[in-house]
Amino acid sequence: MFGSVLIANRGEIALRIQRGCRRLGLRTIVVHSEADRDAPYVHHADEAICIGPAAAAQSYLNQTALLFAAEVSGAEAIHPGYGFLSENPGFAEQVEAAGLTFIGPTAAVMRVMGDKVAAKRAMRAAGVPCVPGPDAALGDDLDLARATARQIGYPVILKAAGGGGGRGMRMVESEAGLIDAIAVTREEARRGFANSAIYIEKFLRRPRHVEIQVIADTHGNAVWLGSRDCSLQRRHQKVLEEAPAPGLDQDVLAQIGERCAEACRQLEYRGVGTFEFLVEDDAFYFIEMNTRLQVEHPVTEMTAGIDIVEAQIRVAQGEALPFAQADIVCRGHAFECRINAEDPDTFVPSPGVITAWELPGGPGVRIDSHASSGYRVPPYYDSLIGKLVVHGANRAEALDRLRIALDEMRVEGIATNLPLHRRLVRDAAFIRGGVSIHHLEQQLCGSG
Ligand code: ADP
Repeated sequence: MFGSVLIANRGEIALRIQRGCRRLGLRTIVVHSEADRDAPYVHHADEAICIGPAAAAQSYLNQTALLFAAEVSGAEAIHPGYGFLSENPGFAEQVEAAGLTFIGPTAAVMRVMGDKVAAKRAMRAAGVPCVPGPDAALGDDLDLARATARQIGYPVILKAAGGGGGRGMRMVESEAGLIDAIAVTREEARRGFANSAIYIEKFLRRPRHVEIQVIADTHGNAVWLGSRDCSLQRRHQKVLEEAPAPGLDQDVLAQIGERCAEACRQLEYRGVGTFEFLVEDDAFYFIEMNTRLQVEHPVTEMTAGIDIVEAQIRVAQGEALPFAQADIVCRGHAFECRINAEDPDTFVPSPGVITAWELPGGPGVRIDSHASSGYRVPPYYDSLIGKLVVHGANRAEALDRLRIALDEMRVEGIATNLPLHRRLVRDAAFIRGGVSIHHLEQQLCGSG
């Protein structure tokens, strides 16, 4: 059991975690860079500690500074949030070596999932369906690589085993381009991820992105909390998410969910996690597991009726899950719009002072945001300034509420992607549901 938590993150998620801690009566210690000194959530914490200058490498990614802040504040646990050090097994090890609780899985499990080839192998072993292709890295034998690609069937995709953030991937249409693509992807992987291992799999042409939220305790219990559809993406960045994923065969989904929970039990996974799949024609293909809380967790909170952050902290304290799979029911439908400080047409970040901040409200409307009128959006970090989350009894009601909420919301002083969201919620294909991961970009090009 711990009585205090250091939140090793910033922005909306630092506030979200603070709220979870407060519900549990835990003391919160918020760390911040010089650039975030005046953020309102920093002042809400029981204790705030400056850990360095604006540059993330010297603050939010500075492991020594974070551990020092934990020591001087007497923090007993560290919550890494998402991004930054949340999937860094070395950091998790250091936290535990310092005698603190890392609110996340063990470093060993994080290491397996951080290597996409190892992750795929572990998933196949647990009976989770993966994208066709070997669960081994490509060797130096180019004839073997050609034979493997031919066997999978073109198009194929080359991916860095240590890749992330949508980088280190290359689609190959035919054998003519294979050998050059291998050389380039390998070099990118070596430079970008300090790991030149790459692997090959089938390239799916028009998949949806569907993910399964799981939570596991340290007593051998694991439960899946439902599905999310995150197909609306731009450059592999999610823009608008929903729960549950619409239009899927419920028996297939339940089978996949159970496989994910079973994989957690086999891996002795602990904490929250997300299994990401590409889905084509009701067939699921695992692509990766995120071993942390995700940005889009609120849509699952709304439909499952569970405070995921609170549950995450409770299992980190050694408590058994207070619910079994049979208790998990998906109620209604939820959407989340990521509100970014960026130009809605060019996507260029738009930092600066927010001069007007008018939020929507009414039944089923939730805002997770650290921003307010007068808040200065710093230019150093990602541009997410808030999440608009809307729940309804069914998809149509939730979508109606979302449209109204987006029209009510007003942000001035900086540019935001609100106009993009307002267009998206009126898009016929999106209203029908089940669009592919290419839909948003095709829309933006005017061809969708
Ligand atoms: P990252 O860790 O960089 O996010 P992922 O493996 O999750 O990498 O893949 C990111 C995105 O790349 C997917 O959401 C999808 O758009 C695309 N992608 C990955 N694998 C495939 C594949 N086999 N076929 C088609 N698209 C893919």
